[in-house]
Amino acid sequence: MAETTAGGPAEGRAALGPLAAISRHYGADPAWVLAGGGNTSYKTADRLYVKASGFALGTIDASGFCEIDRARLDAIWSRQYPGDKDAREDAVLADLMAARAPGETKRPSVETLLHGFFPQAYVVHTHPAIVNGLTCSQEGEAAFARLFGGEGIWVPLVDPGYTLAVAVRAIFDAHVAQKGAAPAFMFMQNHGLLVAADSPEAIAALSGAIVAKLAGAIAAAGVREPDLRPVIADPGETEAFAAALRGLAGDGVSVRHRADAMTLGFAADAASFAAIAQPYSPDHIVYAGHEFLRVEGRAELAAAWASYQARNGQRPRVILAKGLGAFSVGGGPGQTEAASAQAASRVLDLFADACKVATYTRAFGGPRFMTPEAVAFIRNWEVEKYRSSVAGR
Ligand SMILES: [Zn+2]
Repeated sequence: MAETTAGGPAEGRAALGPLAAISRHYGADPAWVLAGGGNTSYKTADRLYVKASGFALGTIDASGFCEIDRARLDAIWSRQYPGDKDAREDAVLADLMAARAPGETKRPSVETLLHGFFPQAYVVHTHPAIVNGLTCSQEGEAAFARLFGGEGIWVPLVDPGYTLAVAVRAIFDAHVAQKGAAPAFMFMQNHGLLVAADSPEAIAALSGAIVAKLAGAIAAAGVREPDLRPVIADPGETEAFAAALRGLAGDGVSVRHRADAMTLGFAADAASFAAIAQPYSPDHIVYAGHEFLRVEGRAELAAAWASYQARNGQRPRVILAKGLGAFSVGGGPGQTEAASAQAASRVLDLFADACKVATYTRAFGGPRFMTPEAVAFIRNWEVEKYRSSVAGR
């Protein structure tokens, strides 16, 4: 693959100002990224600076990037890894940690490998609802080929980690062999967008063009933008429903409520709810849960809650009630009130994002959810990540 011509070894961290600025630009805009998701990078001939784990794009500065030795990163591609999935992911992670520049202590994300093989100086990976309206739809791949095929690549649903990096690399190399140039962007099924360019200005121009093209296709299909106008639902019953949720969820939780035309539409009946009844992307599962709960009203809440818990071994995080809208439950004992409130707000943000994605899929043949296997993988992966954070690895 071609080396980037941007920058040089002497530039170092001093050159990260533009990367930090463009990271904050996309990271602080909920249309592009929610809940600290997404990642960005900048590379010189011998270094890759990629968003480190634990930093949010919306507030990142030059100190939030992990410095990687590109030669060591590239060497990962010529290594043999164990066939066992867990052992392989552990070994790759160890090699990623070992690829850090001398003195670097921050942790690179598992998506660092993807950033490494795009030759462009800047890479911005986000999860825009309008893009996922296409990547999470029945006709998404065909629509992508029709709208964008020549310049970008489409990546089917693949488990995250090294597995994803290997799959993307094969598609990337095939594109280079066919077109004689690296792709400028990729759409990842049930996941999001990656844009690569040699300057922040080119990233912004390309990102804007992608969104404009999608908006045009959605409008041409007769699909309207999600209707986010607030609806004043029955305030007394809304408060009674929230109180019932607090009673079921126990001490320390925070309950948040959202009522707009979009949300009430998906809560209206079982057929409408079907469009958000399964997960669209890993981030939706991680933050809002793999399954929302819908009830006709407060009278059936307790029984529906109990059956949800019995089925899933955990409480629901999003509860829709016909005519009232959506409620989110976050936090719990041992968390501060502010932390619980923030968790509940984040759940509601990701829920609203799923509703937007569902709305946009109408332009591309309707929803295409993650497969049950992919959902199970993410749920299990979450447990593993939790374990490793507890173990302090
Ligand atoms: Zn992502």
